[in-house]
Amino acid sequence: MPEMPERQVGEAGSPKHYRSRTDDLPDQVGNVGRRTMDEIAEDIVASQGKSMISLGPLEKVYVFWLAGMSCDGCTVAVTGATEPSVEDLITGSIPGLPLVILHHYVLQLEAGDHYIRTLELAEQGKLDGPYVIVYEGSIADETLTAGCDPFAAEGALPLWAPSEQRRRIATAEWVQRLAPGAAAMIAIGTCATWGGIPAAYGNVTGAMSVMDFLGKEYRSALGLPVVNIPGCSPVGDNFTDAVQSILLFLQGLGPLPEFDELGRPAWQFSDTVHRHCVRAGYYEEGTFAKEYGDKECLVEVGCWGPVVNCNITEKGAISHMGGCMNAGGPCIGCTMPGFPDKFAPFYQSPPGSLISSNASRLMGSIIRPLRRISQRERNREIRWHNIIPSGWAAERGKETLTHRIVELFYNKMQFGGGNRPGRRLPEDEFSSGYRPLPEEAYGENYQVLPEERIKRRVKRE
Ligand code: SF4
Repeated sequence: MPEMPERQVGEAGSPKHYRSRTDDLPDQVGNVGRRTMDEIAEDIVASQGKSMISLGPLEKVYVFWLAGMSCDGCTVAVTGATEPSVEDLITGSIPGLPLVILHHYVLQLEAGDHYIRTLELAEQGKLDGPYVIVYEGSIADETLTAGCDPFAAEGALPLWAPSEQRRRIATAEWVQRLAPGAAAMIAIGTCATWGGIPAAYGNVTGAMSVMDFLGKEYRSALGLPVVNIPGCSPVGDNFTDAVQSILLFLQGLGPLPEFDELGRPAWQFSDTVHRHCVRAGYYEEGTFAKEYGDKECLVEVGCWGPVVNCNITEKGAISHMGGCMNAGGPCIGCTMPGFPDKFAPFYQSPPGSLISSNASRLMGSIIRPLRRISQRERNREIRWHNIIPSGWAAERGKETLTHRIVELFYNKMQFGGGNRPGRRLPEDEFSSGYRPLPEEAYGENYQVLPEERIKRRVKRE
């Protein structure tokens, strides 16, 4: 293993944490730099020419990311976050925010016992900053594994004992140990927030949510109930945005974030998928996709969007791109506490949509033709009547009585009876019996200015 250059303790990049935390442990495999996550974070801040001067009471916050019955989808989603990104949080790039020291089993520098040592120190209250727990995946009922290895575990204790005398520590046990002292407890993803797929009918592992595991009386060291960021997988930005909002509040630099009765950030989950859906206009006009790949509303191929609290249609999956309906997928309710059982079988029309989509269909059958008539009339320059001076026009539509009525309607209603500013009003022309010259009168030269047309009309009269 290469020797690290010696530095003064306290100097940026000094291995003070590494030394002080792991002196009694044998060298770890991996982590050739022999550095801790906080040393690296402090180095990055120093390399940017910044100092660790905090704008609030917190200088740094440890974040322990633990995983239970999880597929790692939440991790993948959060590493794609952009507003802010994980990199922004862990490099002190957001003004006013404390430095976030992320301990994540995928991104962690320390390995094995060195990784577990930081969790031990947190439990003993020996860290030099508050800590937040983020839990991904549902929590299994580890009483079912008595005498065997846990369903989900991280590390084995005690660290001083030889490996054969150690006990694997379930992540559920880490939650039990660390939750009382945590500044905040954040459940990420639908498995952690509501139980999710591992807790579906059958549930052989006794899987449950973090809230179910800790109970409704649970409060963090700062008095917060469990914060829930659901989604399977969640929108990565929802997590980083919530962390940022909580930290700004704790620094005294932001308002108290609002959470709903289920502990979800209210600004992210108060609207339904449907309200911001790119296909909502089709629903409102009563036109529905018959099969996947159609461009219309997906409710009849199984979309639950009108009743699901989620902002995927507003935020997209990553950086305002993608997301279920944008990519052609109906909403299957993955952010909801009832998921998956209450939304199964997937890809079938939800029973409640029978009334609402048929009501839309009925209304749409009246509204749609009226809109198309208006659309056609409004889709013409003010100087055109039955002549469209476009080489692209497949046909020069005849001006029908319907269109004249629509034109009259808009011209009368649009300005509330007042005069439209500017040139001579088309409604004057209409009401005085003016009809535009037939196309032959213009010959090839039908792109004439309105003033010239008016002069020709006067001359004709
Ligand atoms: Fe609403 Fe779903 Fe249709 Fe979008 S696809 S408009 S969310 S029902």
